[in-house]
Amino acid sequence: MADKKRVFSGIQPSGRLHIGNYVGAMRNMISLQEDYYCIYGIVDYHAMTVRFDPKEMEKSIVDCAVDYMAAGIDPERSVLMVQSTVSEHSELAWILNTITPISWLLRVPTFKEKRQQNPDNVNMGLLDYPVLMAADIIVYKAEVVPVGDDQLPHLELTREIVRRFNSAFGHVFPEPEAKLGEVARILGLDGVSKMSKSLDNCIYLDESKDEMWKKLSTAVTDVRRKRRTDPGKPEDCNLFTMHKAFSKKEEVDYCARECSTAGIGCLDCKKILLENMYGELEPIQKKQRELRSDKEYVYDVLKQGQRKAKDIAIKTMDDVYGKIGISSFH
Ligand code: SF4
Repeated sequence: MADKKRVFSGIQPSGRLHIGNYVGAMRNMISLQEDYYCIYGIVDYHAMTVRFDPKEMEKSIVDCAVDYMAAGIDPERSVLMVQSTVSEHSELAWILNTITPISWLLRVPTFKEKRQQNPDNVNMGLLDYPVLMAADIIVYKAEVVPVGDDQLPHLELTREIVRRFNSAFGHVFPEPEAKLGEVARILGLDGVSKMSKSLDNCIYLDESKDEMWKKLSTAVTDVRRKRRTDPGKPEDCNLFTMHKAFSKKEEVDYCARECSTAGIGCLDCKKILLENMYGELEPIQKKQRELRSDKEYVYDVLKQGQRKAKDIAIKTMDDVYGKIGISSFH
């Protein structure tokens, strides 16, 4: 474990997960456990940058831990922890704040988006989000970060901050590399927008087979297929992207061939997808139910995660305090 490169990824405790989260981020995080020492942080401080209900926060964190463990994050191999329980994240963020120009933060696309979405709550945390994110990663000297393509600007900013720190004070941090997932992003059921809870266009991980079918059967496909006899272009169909995420290669090839020759209709194609999608998600749902009925175990995993994470983070902060000239006081 000690000689493996480290991975860090932050998990937003933002409620029910959908297949876009699963394919776009979770699967990548799960498979990285084979080759890396993975530290996964449930980022409660980040969740506080928008309005939140304190009564719901603890439940959201525990639900999030349950979902990720059910999907395959293995606490025996990886660290699963809550960001605010390792205070070194915010200590390092403060130091990084002092070397990060405000102009770098103002140009981050997600800040511009969030400012528009929350015009009555444009707080410092929203602007400073990428600096805390940089601290989350480099406090563990992580070298690899699994990201979706929309998070690449954040990671680039982290790399710029690392370069600035290392050149100002001496080398402490490696520059983390992005690790993109293998499957293209799944869009919402409308086939146009990003899959998102607020747009009500998702298939959730914990939906029953019937609920999934209700959604799949009405999901938008390639618009060329107005009638059963019209050939389609699978590469222009969001359902085909879902196939690539959930079906075996032979079935993906079969659907592509039969779609482009009008050999099968969209409903036939969707039925195959349903079987494969539900087949993969059903064991996760079973594990979710088991973990939900053993919360004590989940709290214990997070406590152990905190201990393991803190051991690493304290060592990094010793290096940092040494470089900035205040180590005698720590
Ligand atoms: Fe999409 Fe399948 Fe219909 Fe082709 S047959 S348009 S891939 S749902």
